[in-house]
Amino acid sequence: MSVYVFGHRNPDSDSIVGAIAISYLKNQLEDEEYIPARQGDISAETEFILNKFGGKLPELKTSVAGEKVYLVDSTDKPHFQDDIDEATILGIIDHHKLGDIMTSTPLECWIRPIGCSNTVVKEVYDAMGVAIPKDIAGMMMLAILSDTVIFKSPTCTKVDTKAVKELAKIAEIEDYKALAMEMFIVKSATEGASARSLNTRDYKAFNMGDAKVGINQLEMIDISALDERKVEIYADMVAMKEEEGLHTMLVLLTDIMKEGSQLLCVSDDASKIEAAFDKKLENNQVWLDGVLSRKKQVVPFVQPQFS
Ligand code: MG
Ligand code: MG
Ligand code: MG
Repeated sequence: MSVYVFGHRNPDSDSIVGAIAISYLKNQLEDEEYIPARQGDISAETEFILNKFGGKLPELKTSVAGEKVYLVDSTDKPHFQDDIDEATILGIIDHHKLGDIMTSTPLECWIRPIGCSNTVVKEVYDAMGVAIPKDIAGMMMLAILSDTVIFKSPTCTKVDTKAVKELAKIAEIEDYKALAMEMFIVKSATEGASARSLNTRDYKAFNMGDAKVGINQLEMIDISALDERKVEIYADMVAMKEEEGLHTMLVLLTDIMKEGSQLLCVSDDASKIEAAFDKKLENNQVWLDGVLSRKKQVVPFVQPQFS
């Protein structure tokens, strides 16, 4: 029986590349066949990475009842298939807070508070003594540079920078920062994208107490490109909040050059969000200086307001 490897819904580059890299690693070590999978369409950024290094698009897997699975880049139940409870989870590689996924059988689990799941994957390759193929090394390198926002994110550690340097060597990429900038330019493109596609580009829902909180993040080289579209984005956030049954919907417009995020908020109780950041919302928004990371600088402050 095959094992499907996948990351969270609305897959980012870490989820897609992680699925590919873990599958290759496991296929060197185990008899069972590991198959890279995904829960949805890939982003323009991920497409850039796959094209650059000749990676294959993982297969779409939206139901996993009765299957064996291996998770990467999340342990939060809302981030997985609705029938994830009916799958057997063989392992997890992640770099987020521990979520609410439960297992009924023993599993292997590699979770580290570092910048990217692919950095953890690299450590597992090294621990198991498996050589990383050139193409996979290149993809892993870009996944780490994406998650760490080219080392600027407060989630970035020395382990991540070291991993990127080693992977760049294997991939024979000399100027990895220039390649990463190219990737972020692709990621920043918003022209022609509908408000809904912007609001779901890197959307994640979280169970916080009894409330469901949705947080989307757009990482851009220059967020002023969206100045004219804020009203439209806000109107769609209101619609999404209704449709998804959310208590609060947040959008982070993250400016990777200015190193901060404009937070947009639609909430049943916006005072919770103001309390989380100790800032007043004006026109349902506020600039959060230095905030680049949802997992480290947003979720841990918003979550306590709901418990
Ligand atoms: Mg991710
Ligand atoms: Mg990640
Ligand atoms: Mg991210």
